[in-house]
Amino acid sequence: MKYVLGARCVRCGREYAAVPGLTTCACGGILDIQYDYAAIRRDFSPRVLEGCRDWSMWRYRPFLPVEEDSPAPPLRVGWSPLYRADNLARTLGLKTLYVKDDGLNPTASLKDRASALAVVKAMEAGADTVACSSTGNAASSLAGNAAAAGLRSYIFVPARAPKGKVAQLRIFGATVVSVEGSYEDTFELSKAAIEKWGWYNRNAAINPYLSEGKKTVSLEIMEQLGWHVPDYIALSVGDGCTIAGVWKGLKDLASAGFIDKLPRLISVQAEGCCPINRAVQTGKPWAPMEEDTLADSIAVGVPRNPDKAIGAIRESHGVAVNVSDGEILSAMGLLGRTQGVFGEPAGAAGTAGVKKALELGLIPADSTVVSIVTGNGLKDVANGVKAAGEPLSCPPDMDALLSVFRRAGIAP
Ligand SMILES: *Cc1c(COP(=O)(O)O)cnc(C)c1O
Ligand SMILES: [Zn+2]
Repeated sequence: MKYVLGARCVRCGREYAAVPGLTTCACGGILDIQYDYAAIRRDFSPRVLEGCRDWSMWRYRPFLPVEEDSPAPPLRVGWSPLYRADNLARTLGLKTLYVKDDGLNPTASLKDRASALAVVKAMEAGADTVACSSTGNAASSLAGNAAAAGLRSYIFVPARAPKGKVAQLRIFGATVVSVEGSYEDTFELSKAAIEKWGWYNRNAAINPYLSEGKKTVSLEIMEQLGWHVPDYIALSVGDGCTIAGVWKGLKDLASAGFIDKLPRLISVQAEGCCPINRAVQTGKPWAPMEEDTLADSIAVGVPRNPDKAIGAIRESHGVAVNVSDGEILSAMGLLGRTQGVFGEPAGAAGTAGVKKALELGLIPADSTVVSIVTGNGLKDVANGVKAAGEPLSCPPDMDALLSVFRRAGIAP
């Protein structure tokens, strides 16, 4: 790996060689991959990217910790659209808003970025089986990316995982264990099983390569914005690996001279489960919380990556904002109606956070904001219907249609 120097513990600073099966530090701390930015700067630039026709996350290879001769995995992950969301901006009273629809990845969430990287590292490690525990999307993305690469997968999900995500897992041929317990219980069981059978571990806060995959969302946002840095990037937060990855990507770009300043992060959590934001807001160490929200992907009462996440929010002089389930459902409808983008609850939560941050005066109305939609609404149709309601019901008859419209107050 031409540009990788090694891995360093974020807690004690101990350094490790970046071998494929790397997990956590001996002290229990999470590792962070280190790069030779001077070398990247020498070989790579916005100019080089202009000639690149690889429309996937692999266009940023010099920023990724994979061997030069490792082939990119088969599924096309990344280069999701960044929409200028003028309709929604106008509705919110915000100057400039962009929506990055990462629900358009192959298994329909941002997690594909991490899973694609995990699959490459698993192959480099010579593994034939990969495993993880997940609230749903990490699992379905791992199962899909593993299937395409010819790897077996073992997946542990909490029993509350939405049906759409479980269906994806089964379709991708994973062995799926639905754990009768919380996400915390699920994680612990997967950890014990991974230790027993020696599978390649895709658990995000344990495997330091995964946030390196997730960071490609930031690299794309910046390239899609022509390297013009927005004021804020908003996204929802569960374990904290995604926001840590987003921040890492931005700092990588700054270190390699692609951008000359950094945006501030807007960390959005659910009111019923916001241990990371609570720590940021109170300045106290984080403490576990109940998992009381319908946004299953961010219902994480015991976050696995709180230190990197809290560090990223603080370092960026970021904003922490909590949203209710009602505000999340309303943002799902708003994104759909104004921009034609369908996010799952955790996917639309970032946008709910932008709205709330504006209302609370936490961000100025003349800001330029990028809101990341982290997962697709088709994964969780039950909450989609909850957000937008049932259709009008009508017999196949024009007179009946007229009276149905009249009763609903619709005048075409
Ligand atoms: C996983 C996930 C998140 C949060 O990512 P973390 O790394 O757990 O903080 C947000 N939205 C969706 C749709 C996700 O799947
Ligand atoms: Zn350590």
